[in-house]
Amino acid sequence: MNFNRIVIKVGSALISPDENGCSGIHVQAIAHFIIKCHQASKEVILVSSGSVAAGRQLIKHGSPVPSIPTKQAMASVGQMKMMANWQRFFDVPCSQLLITHDDLKDRQRYINIKNTLRTLLANGIIPIVNENDTVATEELKVGDNDNLAALVALVSEADCLFILSDIDGVYNKDPRSSNDAEMIHEISEITDEIYAMAGTTNSLIATGGMKTKIQAAQKAVENGIETYILNGTNDQAFEKIIAGENPGTHFLANQEVSKAKKHWLKHTLKSHGQLLLDSGAVNAVKNNGASLLPSGILSIAGEFLAGESLDIIDAETKTIVAKGICQYNHQDLFRIKGEKTDRIQSILGCCPSKVIVHRDDMVIM
Ligand code: GLU
Repeated sequence: MNFNRIVIKVGSALISPDENGCSGIHVQAIAHFIIKCHQASKEVILVSSGSVAAGRQLIKHGSPVPSIPTKQAMASVGQMKMMANWQRFFDVPCSQLLITHDDLKDRQRYINIKNTLRTLLANGIIPIVNENDTVATEELKVGDNDNLAALVALVSEADCLFILSDIDGVYNKDPRSSNDAEMIHEISEITDEIYAMAGTTNSLIATGGMKTKIQAAQKAVENGIETYILNGTNDQAFEKIIAGENPGTHFLANQEVSKAKKHWLKHTLKSHGQLLLDSGAVNAVKNNGASLLPSGILSIAGEFLAGESLDIIDAETKTIVAKGICQYNHQDLFRIKGEKTDRIQSILGCCPSKVIVHRDDMVIM
């Protein structure tokens, strides 16, 4: 298993295969795989569909395609069932994150989601994300959990994304109507031809079809995240993955991306201020791969918002040692600079982040 942090998207067809509440039939094998990942020190985030499907029988509806408020009510009652269905397979706690597209577009909320996920993972918890179906109207929605999973992979800086449904992978023709359809095991470039092969979905319960899976794969691979479409109804698919084989379709990640991110931080992202560090903090950041803590900050300059880029400067030599994205705005940072991390809460009344600039958001100059 060649990844460290994985996002696993589980489609409604796996949670509620007969559209009658939640089932453990496929979830059990997926949970078993997640436990194996944990045993191998991998971090796992789940993006689970199935709230609407799980609540479907509990809300009266006359037509096969329920109205939006009816679906939202189904999601509201079904979300609890879906979460409980997952938790029963794990000894470690699961946590719930319900988000909308707007949350991911807003810079402050984006950082909040990122920090929450980091903290949950650091505490050995399994975050389970779904769209906040009951509050999101159509324009606020990501719309399908395939694309949501790709966005979650981006915000969590995962290096791998699994999109699990009841199909084996991408075929060159529709396998339901063509006996000679062949699966494509590796896709290095997502072209119009690949989209044309995808077709559309006929399922009553799933929102996305193959098209949204390919869109999601495209978002992920463009950001350097290895992506697989796999059949979650097939227990052997997980055994194969553990054995280093590929039972589905693998979309190869763009290898240039991590270099590009560093380049972006270094050259493109405009600095909005400066942080001057003492020699201990300079050493920790430069030589020990550490995140920047408030205690090593001697002074700050400039006015900036949380999420903006700053120059990180050695106060003694006045040289730039790093560049990075700051978790706090200048007013808050002014109050906590030089302080121990565990004082942030009492000074600010909250502690949105224990670090000022996270290691993953920093590039050494
Ligand atoms: N958020 C929806 C649900 O949980 C599903 C969306 C999707 O499957 O793409 O039921």
